[in-house]
Amino acid sequence: MSEYKRLTDRDEFGNADIIGVDSEDLQLNLEYDEFNKVTNALNRLAQYEDIGGPAEFAKLKAELESEKALHHKYEKLALKNAMEYDEVINEKSGTWERMENAWEELEGFSCECGYFGQAAFPYCPSCGRKMSGGEAIQS
Ligand SMILES: [Zn+2]
Repeated sequence: MSEYKRLTDRDEFGNADIIGVDSEDLQLNLEYDEFNKVTNALNRLAQYEDIGGPAEFAKLKAELESEKALHHKYEKLALKNAMEYDEVINEKSGTWERMENAWEELEGFSCECGYFGQAAFPYCPSCGRKMSGGEAIQS
């Protein structure tokens, strides 16, 4: 990968200039309104460049997207558990397996995805399967 080089630099007032271009020459013939637009555009570019190059942006974007997807998944599962509301069409289903200790006392419930918990929710909080077999403890 070629090395990323900044296009902008900041002057003593914190305003962005294009590296290698005399900003006074550049903005000399601009109307006041245009001058402000160029200044704003350069400042914004400099802000992006402060974050990093294309590689950093791609990483940031991927992080945000996976976080969003995860957040969305857990939000949906929490909502479904709260409302017992079934909105997913390709719903997988499963059955809670009762986990008992050597004295046949109930210790919890497990899902085929590997989730184990004390409560048998209507939907598995890990994989989202619509679950049956937990009715016994919900009364
Ligand atoms: Zn599960």
